[in-house]
Amino acid sequence: MSFLSKLSASKGVVKTDNGPFGSAGEFRDADDPRILYKLSSRARRISLKVKTAEREVAVIVPTVSALNKAVKFARENAEWIDVQLESLPPPMPFENGSEIMIRGLPYTLIATEGRGRPKIHHQIREVHVPTPDPESLPGRVKRLLIREAREELEAATHFYADKLGKRVSKVSVRDQSSRWGSCITRGGEGQISYSWRLISAPPYVLEYVCAHECAHMIEANHSQAFWDVCDRISDDVKPAKKWLRKHGALLHAVGADY
Ligand SMILES: [Zn+2]
Repeated sequence: MSFLSKLSASKGVVKTDNGPFGSAGEFRDADDPRILYKLSSRARRISLKVKTAEREVAVIVPTVSALNKAVKFARENAEWIDVQLESLPPPMPFENGSEIMIRGLPYTLIATEGRGRPKIHHQIREVHVPTPDPESLPGRVKRLLIREAREELEAATHFYADKLGKRVSKVSVRDQSSRWGSCITRGGEGQISYSWRLISAPPYVLEYVCAHECAHMIEANHSQAFWDVCDRISDDVKPAKKWLRKHGALLHAVGADY
């Protein structure tokens, strides 16, 4: 045992060398950006996992030394990976002239010259985004959608919270892929966060997610009592749940490059 390893052992620090995985324990395939290698000490063997929301395939690798084998495994299963990812809704990248969804309706995205704030023209269903350099377009569009989402989500959240006689102290809008919303209650007040992607869904779907998260301030579970609270404040629980099941992957295709 070297002096250094003795030192870290005595401090209770376990020093591991993750090699190419780095401290995050993951890295992207250089040839195929849809493939992510993930180190998992809990895994017993190499496996593939389709991540619908991220529109990628994770290759789960149990140890650093198994990496070469894992890369080979991914290459051997390239066709399967293609089939899985191509069955997802086609990507809707933020490009000049492409279609984007706002409140369930298609709008044409137009990069305009000059500076200033982007503008949504509802009557002609166009979004005009001043874009001094083309590379900045995706970021500008995303920020616009996050802004729109925040406005709608905050209004709907306070509406449903009022119905329940509850207070929400914080509404966050994030790029979270695993859930449409989440709610924690602190000192009787809710802190709710949402995915900005809900702005692309029809309004009744966005509103349902807000009602759902607010209902968690009464019931912090998915019991029958919870669903009763949802039904008390929203008429759209069933159709909205159905829409998300059927079209949720579509929301994740908005702004995707591949
Ligand atoms: Zn829930």
